Amino acid sequence: MKIPFVDLKAQYFSIKEEIDQAISNVIQDSAFIGGKYAKVFEKNFANYLGVKNCIGVGNGTDALYITLKALGVFDGDEVITVANTFIATSEAITMSGAKVVFVDCDKDTYNIDVDKIEATITSNTKAIIPVHLYGQPAEMDEIRDIAKKHNLYVVEDAAQAHGSEYQGQRIGTIGDIACFSFFPGKNLGAYGDAGAIVTNNDNLARKARMFANHGRIEKYNHEFEGTNSRLDGLQAAVLDVKLKHLDKWIERRRTIAKMYDAGLNDIVITPSVISDVKHVYHLYVIRIKDRDRVKELLAEKGIATGIHYPIPLPFLEAYSYLGHKPEDFPVAYSMKDEILSLPIHGDMTDEQVEYVITNLKDIVNKMYKKGNA
Ligand SMILES: *Cc1c(COP(=O)(O)O)cnc(C)c1O
Repeated sequence: MKIPFVDLKAQYFSIKEEIDQAISNVIQDSAFIGGKYAKVFEKNFANYLGVKNCIGVGNGTDALYITLKALGVFDGDEVITVANTFIATSEAITMSGAKVVFVDCDKDTYNIDVDKIEATITSNTKAIIPVHLYGQPAEMDEIRDIAKKHNLYVVEDAAQAHGSEYQGQRIGTIGDIACFSFFPGKNLGAYGDAGAIVTNNDNLARKARMFANHGRIEKYNHEFEGTNSRLDGLQAAVLDVKLKHLDKWIERRRTIAKMYDAGLNDIVITPSVISDVKHVYHLYVIRIKDRDRVKELLAEKGIATGIHYPIPLPFLEAYSYLGHKPEDFPVAYSMKDEILSLPIHGDMTDEQVEYVITNLKDIVNKMYKKGNA
């Protein structure tokens, strides 16, 4: 059996007619940049989340960058984020002109450790970017309290958390502003690059929309310099079709996660979920000794896995200028060689899930027997 990490082909074939029709409509209307399909999707995604404004942009990295510019972040400011995330989060901070300040992650959820945030705040700190990593909400109550106390903005990096909930409220509506990615492999993915910014703050929304479109007031009248990062019609139309299926796909991910939990609980460390949240399992990340060997043996059985992420951001060459040491981020450092992401997606069958569980159990049992686990 072959178990791909994600299966975008299977997803396409399950909704082929709707997608083909939607793409054909956009081409027939020549609504390529912005236009009616982008507007419709923006409105539907805002309604889905329960937020006032949605601005479609070119990708999730731009969403973060444009957001920081809309907040007025620039040279000399500092922005806090978590050590274990995708580099896009910190790239956007640097692109905005601010200094990246990393905080270690929590040993159970791998989200930002809220007890370590305050120690990193200085008079230059402008914002905190919690990442809802793997699809699990960060501890937003604590983060909001800290932000309020120190007068900071909260920007949610929701690139992995479409549809997830915190205390009954959809992720993306809790901070001042939030950023989504629709990279094809995300829980809601386009057929190319795409992203969105959402906020209840009309003023921020206006600035972000202008910044994403050359600081335009009208065609050749520009209030300030911005950039070119707009949602295109084809991506919007694809996303609008997929949005209708998102909750069903999320439920499937949650069912698969339950099967993994039950099947693997006694042999590996399964994901730890905080109370009163809805985890949408963009990734199902276990912790296991001899991770690289286990990964190889699973690959031999046709099971694709991932590592998110093999090198925590502070230890990347790209951030060597910050001079961080392993002891500055003990949790991120200790987990990096043990985390393993198992295949999970909305089109995975029970049989495929059982196959992963059976093989992983088998591998771990054999390794124990040999006394090398
Ligand atoms: C995917 C991702 C991004 C960036 O999104 P792109 O659309 O690929 O630019 C940002 N943050 C996180 C946590 C991500 O997973």
